[in-house]
Amino acid sequence: MSLLIVGTVAFDAIETPYGKTDKIIGGAATYIGLSASNLLEKSHLVSVVGEDFPRETIDLLQSKGIDVEGLQIKKGEKTFFWSGKYHRDMNTRDTMETQLNVLETFDPIVPDSFKDAEFLMLGNLMPAVQQKVLSQMNRRPKLVVLDTMNFWMDHFLDDLMEALKSVDVLTINDEEARQLSGEYALVTAARKILNMGPKYLIIKKGEHGAMLFDRDRIFFAPAFPLADVIDPTGAGDTFAGGFISYLVNGGDLSFDGMKRALIHATAMASFCVEKFGIEKLLEITPAELEERKLALAELTRV
Ligand code: AMP
Repeated sequence: MSLLIVGTVAFDAIETPYGKTDKIIGGAATYIGLSASNLLEKSHLVSVVGEDFPRETIDLLQSKGIDVEGLQIKKGEKTFFWSGKYHRDMNTRDTMETQLNVLETFDPIVPDSFKDAEFLMLGNLMPAVQQKVLSQMNRRPKLVVLDTMNFWMDHFLDDLMEALKSVDVLTINDEEARQLSGEYALVTAARKILNMGPKYLIIKKGEHGAMLFDRDRIFFAPAFPLADVIDPTGAGDTFAGGFISYLVNGGDLSFDGMKRALIHATAMASFCVEKFGIEKLLEITPAELEERKLALAELTRV
C-alpha cells in the first residue's frame, strides 16, 4: 500500500502563551509525513520549497522514509511562510502573516513512480494544486482525503468546491465547517457539506475532540486531555497524517475502520501539541502511542 502526500513545506513563526519562535520548520505536508512515518516505512511527498530551505530538514524527512523526489526546490526563491498567534484558550488563533512565495507559481509534478499510489492525502494547499495532483494519477486512488482551511475558503472558494467533488474524506475544523456550509449547527453543516461531494466528513474541534460523519452515522472521539498544550500548530495535519496512515496500514475503509483511524489520529495530534513545531513528532515511541490510545479508549468506557 502506498501513500502520496501533497501539502505545504514551510517556515512558521509561532506565538503561544508559552513562548514565541523565530522561523521554525512547519508546513502541512511536513506534519502529515512525520505523523504517517510513525506507522509507515515509506510515503511519497509532492511539494515545493525555496533555496532558503535547509538541506538537513530534507535529509531528516528522507530518514523518516518520506520520498522527496516530488519536492521541488526553486532556485533564488523563498519558501512559503506562515505566522500565527494563539489565544489563551489555544483553540483559536490569528494568522499574522501568510507569504505564499514559491506557492504562488507552484506547478505540482507527480513523479511517475508515485502515480499508482493507492492513498492520496491532499494536505492543506491551494485547491487547484490539490486537484492537479489528483488529475495526474494513473488511476483514481482507493482513498482520497482532503484537508483545507479558511484561507482557501476566503480566496479560492470556487476551486475548493470543484476539488470537493472528487474526494472521499474532507477534514476541516468546526469554524471552517460553519463557514463552508453557512450553518451554525454542526450536524446540519455536515449534511450540507456531504452534499458537496465528500462521502465522509471529519470535523475537528480542537480540545473538544473530532466528529466523523457519513450520510447516516456520526462518531465522536474526545481529545486527549492534556495539562499543558504548548503549541497547537500542525495538530490538524498530524491528525490527517495519522488518520490516513492508519488506513494505509491495513485499516479497512468502512465506517468502523474509519472510527479506529480517528482514534489513532486523535492520539497522534495529542502528541504534536506537547512541544513547539515538529519536535514531539520525532520522538514518539510505539509504546507511548499504544498507551495513549488505551487511555483515550478508557476516557469514555463506563
Ligand atoms: P494546522 O495547525 O494543522 O492548521 O497547520 C498549521 C500548518 O499549516 C503550519 O505549519 C503552516 O505552515 C501551514 N499553513 C498555514 N497556513 C496555510 C495555508 N494557507 N495553506 C497551507 N498550509 C498552511
